[in-house]
Amino acid sequence: MSQDVGGLGGLKPLQIIGDGEQGMAAPVGAPVEAVPGNRTSAKVLVVGSGPAGLTAAIYAARANLEPIVLGGYEAGGQLMITSEVENFPGFPEGIQGPELMDRMRAQAERFGALVVDVDVERVDLSKRPFRLWAGGVEYQAETVIVASGASALWLELESESRLRGRGVSACATCDGFFFRDRKVVVVGGGDTALEEALFLTRYAREVVMVHRRDQFRGSHIMQERALANPKVRVLWNSRVVEVLGAEQVSGVRLQDTVTGAERDEPTDGLFIAIGHRPNTGVFREWLEVDDKGYLAVHEDTRTRIDGVFVAGDVHDSRYRQAITAAGDGCRAAIDAERWLAEHGLAEPATMSAW
Ligand SMILES: Cc1cc2nc3c(=O)[nH]c(=O)nc-3n(C[C@H](O)[C@H](O)[C@H](O)COP(=O)(O)OP(=O)(O)OC[C@H]3O[C@@H](n4cnc5c(N)ncnc54)[C@H](O)[C@@H]3O)c2cc1C
Repeated sequence: MSQDVGGLGGLKPLQIIGDGEQGMAAPVGAPVEAVPGNRTSAKVLVVGSGPAGLTAAIYAARANLEPIVLGGYEAGGQLMITSEVENFPGFPEGIQGPELMDRMRAQAERFGALVVDVDVERVDLSKRPFRLWAGGVEYQAETVIVASGASALWLELESESRLRGRGVSACATCDGFFFRDRKVVVVGGGDTALEEALFLTRYAREVVMVHRRDQFRGSHIMQERALANPKVRVLWNSRVVEVLGAEQVSGVRLQDTVTGAERDEPTDGLFIAIGHRPNTGVFREWLEVDDKGYLAVHEDTRTRIDGVFVAGDVHDSRYRQAITAAGDGCRAAIDAERWLAEHGLAEPATMSAW
């Protein structure tokens, strides 16, 4: 039986502020099965299969809640596009990003999570059970954990995607360590780019900032710090039009945005720091976002809708790390489980699973 959310007589969608596109039309009526035998309703439904989503699934599965994970077409999330991960605890020798994500998924599945690699195209959070449509299938859930992450923005060059993880990165905190005593180029002119550049001065012998305008957009204090750092050199009015290198980055081709003239700048690494886009599209109609466009959290991992929780980079513009996303997934699963128990929807016995 369906229930009004939060006893408010059924929540209405928020007025859409940004992109509220709803994706393809979804079937109505009784849920159908995507794959014979697959479940389409759950007490906990997780959106996203990055570190946040899969950790939430591990916790929910170990609490016998048999979660469904609608993991998205980018199964495994952002770590699938990186190579060595050296800062995730428990792997002193480091681990390849895709292998770490395979292991997280196997761990979730071992305890009974169903992981389906489909994008959620539309949601209806007006009443419980919540309804979500993905791959032409309607799913129903008593609680939803939104862990749809954020996508790093790229220059969209073929050479850039070919050399990702081979000198091209979008995360200085993650990959700066690999550029000890090397030269790196940072693309961008906002606070993120300035922060990344300053962070990289800890390792690199030279940090060249490439910015397409003749002044930065970032805060005054960050600009001062970057410009005062002897390791930082700025190339104004410039943009990267190609990343050079066959197997590994060896340089970038720059174009002067005023004259159009091109020249090559040798470098060992290229950090793209032009921003992130939180994957909030299908939820924007229902959940609030903060001033940066990330999902707003009300208390712990709760959102404005009772029974809907968030975890990971989709709400976190500050830390953006696998371990913080995983920690968030754990918190969201515990919050969801407690919420279910409070509403008489989970066996109190499952509480001991943590
Ligand atoms: C190049 C690079 C290297 C990095 N290296 C490191 C590192 O070494 N160490 C570290 O700690 N962190 C690193 N990070 C950061 C780390 O990857 C992120 O902080 C972390 O992956 C965030 O996890 P998440 O689960 O919140 O989101 P994500 O990993 O972004 O996963 C989001 C998931 O949501 C899914 N999704 C999106 N929209 C939908 C939808 N509509 N329906 C269903 N599913 C959807 C996606 O398919 C994906 O599975 C790196 C990031 C990048 C870009």
